[in-house]
Amino acid sequence: MNNSEFDVIKKYFTFPNTRDDVTLTVGDDCAIVAVAENKQLVITTDTFISGVHFPEETSAEDIAFKSLMVNLSDLAAMGAKPAWVTLAITLPDINESWLQAFSNQFYAVLSKFNVSLIGGDTTKGALSITVQAMGLCEKDKVLRRDQAEVKDKVFVTGWLGDAAIGLQAISDKLEDEVLISCINRLNRPEARVMFAQDLVQYSKCAIDISDGLVADLGHLLSASHCGARIDLSTIPISPAARHYFEIYHNNIVDWSMVLTHGDDYELCFTLDHDNESAVIELAEKHDLQISCIGEVTDSGEQVFIDENNVALSFSASGFKHF
Ligand code: ADP
Ligand code: MG
Repeated sequence: MNNSEFDVIKKYFTFPNTRDDVTLTVGDDCAIVAVAENKQLVITTDTFISGVHFPEETSAEDIAFKSLMVNLSDLAAMGAKPAWVTLAITLPDINESWLQAFSNQFYAVLSKFNVSLIGGDTTKGALSITVQAMGLCEKDKVLRRDQAEVKDKVFVTGWLGDAAIGLQAISDKLEDEVLISCINRLNRPEARVMFAQDLVQYSKCAIDISDGLVADLGHLLSASHCGARIDLSTIPISPAARHYFEIYHNNIVDWSMVLTHGDDYELCFTLDHDNESAVIELAEKHDLQISCIGEVTDSGEQVFIDENNVALSFSASGFKHF
């Protein structure tokens, strides 16, 4: 480590620690945290590369927000409570205003969820951000993708497709105020962290929708050895998305855009019929919209049914890296 790296870490990545389970934070060779005996540690990591995962012109704030939020979304998908993160960042140069903006936004999201940045790595190269997020859950109280059962109802939180429309609005340079909310959903996803921590009381099975519903529900179903029958008319689409399809897509919903483009960071979860009303109440408590979109079946296939009762299939199944 040279002096300038040390300065960067001290100035931009050393935040006040508010957690009493952090024994040792940024500054030593490793961090040390205490995990209570009745808890399990839940760990995830995601990398964000400039030009691959976000356009090069994306602001430092949006990169900070999203790189953290997508990791928190993975923790939410497990029903875990976020506790600590590490940050491995590769920077092309030391740009103080970029670093300050990144640092401020990163810290704002950390503070919102009472999460501590406990370590990381700082290197020089093409801009890349890797966050590792660690959370806690009660033993055996966790959401997994392999726990769906036949006849469970399939639910999703929020709206699907806004991020895909936001990306399209950016690349088509659409100057349309209504679509700002979609661009915002692309750059500032809201991981369903709080709701998910309560959901573990009623559900055993969830996944977060990062690559589109078709792909992610597909992962959940294959892990659970089930199929599903999804009713397209129940897929939640925002007023802004409806506006987009009305004005820019001949008033026809582009289902492949809504279901296969990803970046929604909503949760898809399954529920036994007995728990439905409790979870509907829970969503109300969290001021979160949830929609029942179908049912788990023993068919082994994911089938989408349109308003004319015709089964549709989607060829593009989510974002693939290779
Ligand atoms: P080492 O050479 O022992 O790996 P580093 O020079 O990489 O140490 O880092 C020094 C300290 O700063 C370590 O505690 C490390 O976890 C922390 N650190 C480095 N980069 C970051 C970062 N981007 N965010 C938070 N902590 C960091
Ligand atoms: Mg290091």
